[in-house]
Amino acid sequence: MASGIRWGLVGASDIAATRVAPTMRALGQSVSAVCSGSPDRADWFARQHGIPLATSSLEQLLAADIDAVYISSRNAEHAGQARAAAAASKHVLLEKPIATTLEDATAVVRDCESAGVVLAANHHLPGAGTHRRIRDLVASGAIGRPLSAAVRHAVMLPERLRGWRLSDEPGAGVILDITVHDAAVLNALFGGAALEVSALGVRQGSWQAGSDDAAMVTLRYPGDVLAQTHDAFTSAFTPTRLEVHGDSGSITAPGVMTQDPVGQVFLADASGEREVEVADRRDLYEVALSEFEAAVRGTGRPAVTGREGLAAYAVAQAALESAQSHRSVAVPPLSP
Ligand code: NDP
Repeated sequence: MASGIRWGLVGASDIAATRVAPTMRALGQSVSAVCSGSPDRADWFARQHGIPLATSSLEQLLAADIDAVYISSRNAEHAGQARAAAAASKHVLLEKPIATTLEDATAVVRDCESAGVVLAANHHLPGAGTHRRIRDLVASGAIGRPLSAAVRHAVMLPERLRGWRLSDEPGAGVILDITVHDAAVLNALFGGAALEVSALGVRQGSWQAGSDDAAMVTLRYPGDVLAQTHDAFTSAFTPTRLEVHGDSGSITAPGVMTQDPVGQVFLADASGEREVEVADRRDLYEVALSEFEAAVRGTGRPAVTGREGLAAYAVAQAALESAQSHRSVAVPPLSP
């Protein structure tokens, strides 16, 4: 691969149009093909975004001159498309959740590993400069022994996205949309998947929702570390926030649970509270795409690996099951 990655887009989606394809081009990568379930939509999307090949056949896209696929279709389509890409020896950047069943999520990871292709999950938050700074602080002992964390990640779902996310189809609902991102953040902070979760989900919106549009989840991590999350599609003015508390200090980080490289990090301990400098303010999607390219070149690892995407999904799936059953649910151990 002499120049940048040549991408095939699977899914003519909003996130591909608004964030990911423009960032690919800004990095010198090329967007060579797009595949949509509808031939007309594929043509329209390709014209809008100057993409040479438009197709409604995944097979045709995978046979094109591309190095990797970026899959941003509806959630229930992710696993089948990723497995087909691995079978065609294409590297895979896969949107979250990486699947809608644990069996499929595990098969995606296994197939990509057997095919020797890079698999990354497009969780944008763990690669953010703010989140990396927070993890460095925790790892360096700045707050002592970690005890708990809290995430507020409640937003108003933009009108243009009030389609399948609010339906009753597999992969819909706030837990597989937003809680799964929180899980990627918390898993990275505490060194692996949560052990157990307990969730409540509700339908608060002014719309007819077929799945929960707001949820609060309590999680237990190894070492009896506790975490809680608040996620919603219904809350227009709620600031986002991450807090991590230890036995000798606390980190509070307002504004860091967003798609933009914004937010602050504060550290409080026996010597008082101060703001911690965050030097890396790169675009979050630029981080994901450039680190994916480094992984393909064999010079780095993805910001969030496929296995980390699997772990985030497993935690979110347990939260979904807990919200449905009103019982706490153990996160199954994931194969090494
Ligand atoms: P969209 O609803 O925009 O797109 C999903 C699919 O819906 C498309 O692939 C397309 O199907 C179909 N579609 C979209 N608009 C239309 C339309 N007007 N008419 C007909 N079909 C349409 O979803 P998002 O971009 O919001 O999300 C896509 C994926 O990306 C999801 O998995 C989501 O979880 C993830 N995501 C990740 C984010 C992140 O920061 N990591 C942020 C936002 C989303 P087809 O495949 O047939 O073209």
